[in-house]
Order: sequence, then C-alpha cells, then structure tokens
Amino acid sequence: MYHPLLKKQVKKLLGDSLPLNEDIQKLLNAVNESYQNFERDKELSEHAFAISETEYSDITDKLRNEINRRKRSVAALIDTIRSLENEADFKELGDHNLEEIIGYLKVQIDKRKQAEIEMIKAKEVAEKAALARSEFLSMMSHEIRTPLNAVVGFTYLLLQGNYLPEQDEQLHLLKFSAENLLALINDILDFNKIESGKVALEKTSFNLLKLINQVKNTNFTKAQDNGNTIRVMFDTQIPSIIIGDPLRLGQVINNLVSNAVKFTHNGVVIIEAMMLKQSIDTVQIQFSIKDNGIGIEPENQQRIFEIFTQASDSTTRQYGGSGLGLAICNGLLEIMQSHISLESTPGKGSTFSFILGMPFSQDEGVILNDGSKIVVSDPDLSGTRVLLVEDNHVNTLVATTFLERWNTKVDTAENGHEAIEKVMANKYHVILMDLHMPEMDGYDACEQIVKLKPTLPIIALTASAMLNIRDKAFEVGMIDYVTKPFEPNELYEKIRKNRLPLDSPL
Ligand code: ADP
Repeated sequence: MYHPLLKKQVKKLLGDSLPLNEDIQKLLNAVNESYQNFERDKELSEHAFAISETEYSDITDKLRNEINRRKRSVAALIDTIRSLENEADFKELGDHNLEEIIGYLKVQIDKRKQAEIEMIKAKEVAEKAALARSEFLSMMSHEIRTPLNAVVGFTYLLLQGNYLPEQDEQLHLLKFSAENLLALINDILDFNKIESGKVALEKTSFNLLKLINQVKNTNFTKAQDNGNTIRVMFDTQIPSIIIGDPLRLGQVINNLVSNAVKFTHNGVVIIEAMMLKQSIDTVQIQFSIKDNGIGIEPENQQRIFEIFTQASDSTTRQYGGSGLGLAICNGLLEIMQSHISLESTPGKGSTFSFILGMPFSQDEGVILNDGSKIVVSDPDLSGTRVLLVEDNHVNTLVATTFLERWNTKVDTAENGHEAIEKVMANKYHVILMDLHMPEMDGYDACEQIVKLKPTLPIIALTASAMLNIRDKAFEVGMIDYVTKPFEPNELYEKIRKNRLPLDSPL
C-alpha cells in the first residue's frame, strides 16, 4: 500500500494498468518507505512539540505555586520576627527579601549570644558574691560568737554568785542584751543558711506535746511581763511520738509564739495543734498560734513576711526585733513543704497557722530527742571524767567553771595532738572537742581518737553554727554537737546523755 501522494503520482505518470518491472517496483517501494518515514517523523515532532507545551505549562504552574509559597513563608517569617523583635529595629530592614532577613537574623543572633555570655558572666559574679557573703557571715559568726560566749557565760556565773543588790538590774540588762545580740546573730545566720539551701532537716522521734509545752515555758516570763496567759490546746488524737525535726519545728512555733506574746498586752495567746487527717503512718496536723493583740493592717499582711520588714516604722522603737523572724519561719516551712497563712484584724488580734504532714511512731519506747532545753534543778555529774579540748583560754575558763560546778573531773588540752596524748594516758567518759584549733584541728583529732577508743563519745563544741560544719563533725565520728556560746543546760544534758556509763571499765 503506497503513501497517498505516491499513489497519486504513479497514477498520473504511469497510469493504472501498466505492468511494472521489478526494478521500478523496487524504486517505488523505496520511495514509498521514504514517504512513510517522513510522515512518521512529522507526526512524532508534532507530538513532541505538543508534549513540551503541557510540561512547560505544568512547570510554570509549579514555579508560580512555589514562589507564592515562599512569599507566604517570608510573610510568616516577618510576622514572627515582628512579634519577637523590637518594631523599631525591624523597620530598618526596609524591603523584606529573604537575604536581608537572614542578614538581620544573623545580627540578632549574634547580639543575643553576646547578651547570653554577659548574663552567664553576671550570674557567675552574683554566685561568687553570694558565696563570699555566706563565707563572710560564717567567719563573722565565729568571730562574734567567741567573745559573746565569754559575755553570756560570765553573766550567768555572775548572776549565780554574790553580787550587790544595785547590780541586779545591770546584770539582768547585760544578760538580756547579750542574749538579744546572740539571737540576732543566730537569725542572720539562719536566714543565710535557708537562703543558700543549706538547711537539711533531721528525722528523729519526739514528743510533740512536750515540744509545745517547752515553747510555752520559754515564753512564760515575757508573757507574764505583758500580762498575757499562754494556753495550749492539743488534740488528744495526735499520736504522742512524731517523727521530724523538733529543733526546726520548735523554732517556727517559738518565733510565732514570741511574736504573739510581744504584740499582745493583757490578753491570751493560744497554741493549738489539731489533727486533720491520719493514715497508717502519717498524720496531718494544723498548728495555729492565736492572739488577741494589736493585729496587723490588711495592707501589711503580705509585707511582714519579707526580710527586715515590720508592720510599721515605730515597731522597732516600741517592740524591738529585726523583721527576720517571719521570713525564717516561711523559709523553714517551705523546706517542710508547707507555708504560713495569716488572718488578722487590727485591734482584735492575729492567727498564724500552717499544716504539716508528719510520720508518727507506734513505738512508745524509743529514745526521744525532742531538742528541748531541759531545766536542771540540781545538776550533778559526779564521777564523770571529761576531757575538754579547746585552744581559747576564756572559753576553757567558762566551760571548766560549769563542768566543775557539776562535779565532773575536768582535764584540758589545747590542740588535737595534746588531746590524743591525754586519751592514751588517761581514762574519760566523754570528750568535748573544739573544731578549729592550731596544730591539729578537732576533725583530725577525732578521727585518730575513734581509732584508738571507738566507744569514747566525742561532742563537738564550736562557735560556728554552719550546718555543713555539723555534718562534717558527724562524718568524722562525733556523737553530738553543742554550739558556743553554749546554753549550760544543753551542755549538761548532752554530757549526761552521751557519756559512757560510770561503771563501764573505760
Ligand atoms: P520581728 O518580730 O523581729 O520584728 P518578724 O518577722 O517576726 O520580725 O515580724 C515582722 C513584723 O510582723 C513585726 O515587726 C510586726 O510588725 C508584725 N507581727 C508579727 N507577728 C505579729 C502578731 N502576732 N501581732 C501583730 N503584729 C505582728
């Protein structure tokens, strides 16, 4: 079958019926093939053209979409930057193309990196300052407490001796001032410890009612002076032995009670402990300290919990105080996972309360460590052999005077080396060990003595109240801790409790 054009030519030139020889036939076939090929190529090229046309429009569509998408991304980017950045800075950018935005972002990132570096530096400086402050306070406490030890100790001794009647008021004033100064130093140190996260709570068994009664007794004289009575309302459902930190809980209750007593005249202060809930081993107790004293104005009820803040400027003049007590209470309660609530009406009175969840012990036979200051009626430690290790002569004199008054037999050593020599040569029921001494300090001496005589109890006696010092003392094997200037009853009680039995072979 020839191509129609060839067919037409053949018909025209050769006619219909002419017999064709083989060569012409071959030629015609070849020509026909060329026609056919030409036709196929034409068809193919037309097809190819048609295809690239659709692809072209596809790509154009895609590109348009892509450009639109990018425009939207850039717009979103600009919106985001605008919400993050200072509008004024951003205006400098002008026509927002992507390159400019990237350049702008680079500059901003560099600025922020620089700010971050400066912040890290500032944080380091602040941390160093806080550490320096804490170390300064610790050092000052040591420096102030040592002479205060002598002042408080000798005042006690003078008051117990014979003095002229006209000296009575002066001596009591001296005692009051020294104790106040000591309380202030202790408050500052305590606050410093709480703030720097150095307060670790103890977990010991104690009698809660006894602790509350001790707080009542401590505040008894001041309450009487102001014509107040203190009442304890203790829910009898509360288990008698609670587990917690009696010293710190006592400190919180005591702060609140002493405030209540201070700001109330001819009134009543109530210390209340109510059981809210009890599970198998935990009890939830609500503590409330109520008074019908001067009360606190609503606008001051928040402020008074801040440090060094009192309800009014005249408070210090009229009542004394430093404005640290409530900040300490709040800090301690925060560590105990609680907080103080206050309800108060000016002229009617105040109620400070907090709730504590505390484990309790079913075992009534445990040895109580209720952190109390036991009132000793007739102190006597006859037969007790004590080694006092202390480098400061005034401290040694104060301590030995009390120890001898309690009929102990006292030996003294001025440093760790001397203490070890005395322990090897003599027999003691207890050692009182200062921690900071020249030549060999209390920690090293304690470690050596524990190796020589593992059962011999060593009580740390130090002017520093920092808790890390107490922990270190326990780590090297000391059994207990007394802070100077010591409360005589506390020292007495700690010796009585910790000394070896008098009939032991030593
Ligand atoms: P301080 O008692 O040493 O001044 P606090 O932090 O314990 O410091 O108390 C801060 C202030 O809160 C007190 O100065 C007093 O103004 C007020 N305040 C505290 N307790 C009472 C209270 N029970 N009644 C009236 N005012 C109180």
